Amino acid sequence: MPGFNFEIEMKKSTKIITITALLLNISMAAIAQIKAYTVADAHSHNDYKNNIPFYRAYEKGFGSIEADVYAVKGQLMVAHDKKEISAKRSLKVLYIDPLIEKLSRDPQRHLRLLIEIKEDYKAVLPLVITELKPLEKFFAYEGHPGRLSIVMTGAVPPAAVMPNYPDWMSFDVDHLDGFTETQWKKIGLVSFPLSRYVHWNGKGVFNAEEIKRVKGGIDSVHNAGKKVRFFETPDTKSSWLAMLRLGVDVIGTDDIEGLGNFLNGKDRSEYTATQPYAIYHPTYKSDGEVKKVKNIILCIGDGMGLSQIYATYTANRGQLNIFQMLNIGFSLTYSADAYITDSAAGATAFASGQKTNDRAVGVDAAGKPLKSLADYSAEAGKKTADIVVCELTDATPAAFYAHNSERSKATDIASQIVSSPVDIFLGSAYKDFTVTRDGESAVDKMKQKGYTVVRNFDDFLTTPATKILGLMDDSVTRPKMDGRGNYLPLALKKVTQAFKNAPNGFFMMIEGSQIDHGGHANNLKQIITENADFDRVVGDALRFADEDGETLVIVTADHETGGLTLLDGNINKGYVWGNFSTNDHTGTPVPIFTYGPHSLDFRGVFNNTEIFNKIKALLK
Ligand SMILES: [Zn+2]
Repeated sequence: MPGFNFEIEMKKSTKIITITALLLNISMAAIAQIKAYTVADAHSHNDYKNNIPFYRAYEKGFGSIEADVYAVKGQLMVAHDKKEISAKRSLKVLYIDPLIEKLSRDPQRHLRLLIEIKEDYKAVLPLVITELKPLEKFFAYEGHPGRLSIVMTGAVPPAAVMPNYPDWMSFDVDHLDGFTETQWKKIGLVSFPLSRYVHWNGKGVFNAEEIKRVKGGIDSVHNAGKKVRFFETPDTKSSWLAMLRLGVDVIGTDDIEGLGNFLNGKDRSEYTATQPYAIYHPTYKSDGEVKKVKNIILCIGDGMGLSQIYATYTANRGQLNIFQMLNIGFSLTYSADAYITDSAAGATAFASGQKTNDRAVGVDAAGKPLKSLADYSAEAGKKTADIVVCELTDATPAAFYAHNSERSKATDIASQIVSSPVDIFLGSAYKDFTVTRDGESAVDKMKQKGYTVVRNFDDFLTTPATKILGLMDDSVTRPKMDGRGNYLPLALKKVTQAFKNAPNGFFMMIEGSQIDHGGHANNLKQIITENADFDRVVGDALRFADEDGETLVIVTADHETGGLTLLDGNINKGYVWGNFSTNDHTGTPVPIFTYGPHSLDFRGVFNNTEIFNKIKALLK
């Protein structure tokens, strides 16, 4: 490392520790806690250079803003270079006046103003004292708990004269040595160039030796009781993440929106699973055999792309039922009229074998009704089930029993349930099925057809009825992270128990409906908790397939949601950091995993409509 000797640096800092150790008991204890980052820890570096100085960073919630100043004819002018000085760009106009206005209006707001002295502190500092006078009541310093910290940086005076300046004025320095106790009290921030510790372009991660060096620099400042920032850091997500991990106090950027969004979305981007669940280890006895398929369990993870699956694998400490499945393919999800499918066109493709327009359920692109796998299965003498953890009128379940060019016509869709041969339905949206047409509702008609309509989940699980319409309250199908119980695994168990002696077997579609909701909400916890719940269902389906020997299990998705990428993770700790590129669906192909007889049929890369064709070929 040119220009840096770790041991010498540590010796220097040890000297300071002895000087200040007695004063620092309180701040040392605070430092020992793990830092929770918010946008208040962000620093708008070169703030005066962006098109809207001060306001952009302030409104984004930044806790620290920087302005470079020159003393010009008795006034502080904001500029990076002497040539940029212009009459309109004074510190008063660009920073002091806006600060007075904003801090007066927002009594909760704290801010650090970092003023960089470009040259001649003897000319600049007296002007800072005069020009900042209107802000005095906001100043924060020892014995004065205000909301505005003033830190001078750049061409600061020598340590010996720092105590001559007002108590509210502190200084930013790039070293720890050579200060007396009184002088050290004037230090408000310590800033190091990152290159003193490591040469990095912001890509990849530090190795153990580099982490040790950088951490050494950070710890030396923390041990001396001050806050630390690095400058000349790459302005990338990887760099911001590295600074967070290392425990830097102030993260600088020129990308106000980028870092602001990164920190504001942090709570929803991170997840650590508290308790891993055990997975099922299949026997593989019937896996890949070319023999009769009696039962088919089609498990759909709505919005479940490879990143969602791998995030769940990571959270579960490197174990996943889905990853026990050996036969793997990819499904191309584009619809008839769009590169990006929605759940309606996606479900219609695997339910009925036709690429249709987005928003269309159970009809082709011209609006013609299509028969679904549930219809074909019933014709083949099989029992059928349509099981979801969302509204039963939602796109995926509807594609198996309804026909409508517009997925949002929920009551029309509900009314079509009476024409479906499906034996067991489970979902929510009871009210859509109670709307009357010709004096009768779908619920009335289903009862006349011999269905038992249940509103309570325990009743659903215990009813001996063979035709069931289960319509739960929304509280029963609420997100897993909000306390939904074992709804989905119990529903699978109920259906497999009810159907296991059916002479011609069964076809069931069971959906992890809310993985998609987590993607739309850009909420990693929601994605992983829903995907883990769905993975448990897959484990139970694999166990059933092993016990039965004639069951094919298919696991896939209709599309990916959120454009999720994984920026960091730790399999041992069950920790994941995700990044979302959109709050909508994406066009990336989704994986398909299969287990049991004929599972080899699903290898390769194919259109989502092929899922229908491959299943239909087995319905004999
Ligand atoms: Zn969606």
